[in-house]
Amino acid sequence: MTHPFLDLAPLSAERFASIEERVARLLATEQDVVIMQGEALLPLEGAIRGTAGPGTTALNVITGPYGQTFGDWLRDCGAEVIDLPVPFHTAVTAAQIADALAEHPEIDFVSLVHAEAATGNTNPVAEIGEVVRRHGALFYLDAVASIGAEPVLPDAWGVDLCVIGAQKAMGGPAGVSAVSVSERAWARMAANPRAPRRSYLSLLDWKERWIDAGRRALLHAPAQLEMLALEACLARIEEEGLDSVMTRHASAAAATRAGAVALGGGLEPYVHKATEAAPVATTLRTPSGVDASALVAKALSLNPELPLAAGGGTLSGEMIRVNHYGPAARPDLVESCLTALGTALGEFGARVDLEGVRRQ
Ligand SMILES: *Cc1c(COP(=O)(O)O)cnc(C)c1O
Repeated sequence: MTHPFLDLAPLSAERFASIEERVARLLATEQDVVIMQGEALLPLEGAIRGTAGPGTTALNVITGPYGQTFGDWLRDCGAEVIDLPVPFHTAVTAAQIADALAEHPEIDFVSLVHAEAATGNTNPVAEIGEVVRRHGALFYLDAVASIGAEPVLPDAWGVDLCVIGAQKAMGGPAGVSAVSVSERAWARMAANPRAPRRSYLSLLDWKERWIDAGRRALLHAPAQLEMLALEACLARIEEEGLDSVMTRHASAAAATRAGAVALGGGLEPYVHKATEAAPVATTLRTPSGVDASALVAKALSLNPELPLAAGGGTLSGEMIRVNHYGPAARPDLVESCLTALGTALGEFGARVDLEGVRRQ
């Protein structure tokens, strides 16, 4: 008997290239798109190691845990790193970036996370892109949590390295990911003696042996199941329409914020301004005296299927994450999440208005 996962015909180079083309269309980009055969951390790290080194001065914006990681990689590459940390309840502004660039004219690399699923904020990349372009720095963007939830436009925004993964708002697999690479970024890599070559982290290998060779032969056996899942996920987005997918996420985020306020009991949107809140996932602050991990555990004991999590690390006491992404960006699921959180809060002794959630 043939097995649907095991007995597959090999994935052809042609099919692989057609999936890359669909990713490029999703990003509305003319840049080269490389699909990396691993989770998004692979192109995120590969792009930094390819373009940064001794002599690089990087402005590293920290609006959540990923910014911290990028700073560590940049330092490990030998780059000078200027960290720009921003409180997690807000976004960075283009003016803050402009000030940092004016203060350190030697900056030639800017790393930014577009939306942070882990902290629930989103940054104004279009405005920041203008500032970065005027300065002339290379612009590296982690759009893993924004793609599918809000516009991601590397060409229009002047992004040189734009990394995406399918596991968040795209509702796809986590085991492959993609990066769009500008001509400037390729030139930076080609000139970097420390850029990974003949390495799993290497983007240059894909340029030389795949793109420049006419996309005829893959570098190694592809992650076939993940590639097929990515193809199916792109087809589903194309069928629903990207705009409609993004609207679902924006509605889910707005409903979560409004519902939390209606619920009362001291639950508040973690990100103060709605315009700075990421459409991919909504973070909530628990009232003082209520541990977010304990509250989420109680809510999940009522319904283990809900996309709820406590914040990571030091945020685990005060932050709840409502991960309403992909197929979970639905009004009924948002209502279920808030009802479970409200019921749990009630059991912790808070006064909540469960009817208020239903009226939203
Ligand atoms: C989710 C996410 C990633 C990918 O990391 P995983 O935790 O392995 O899914 C990268 N960057 C950002 C901003 C993310 O939200």
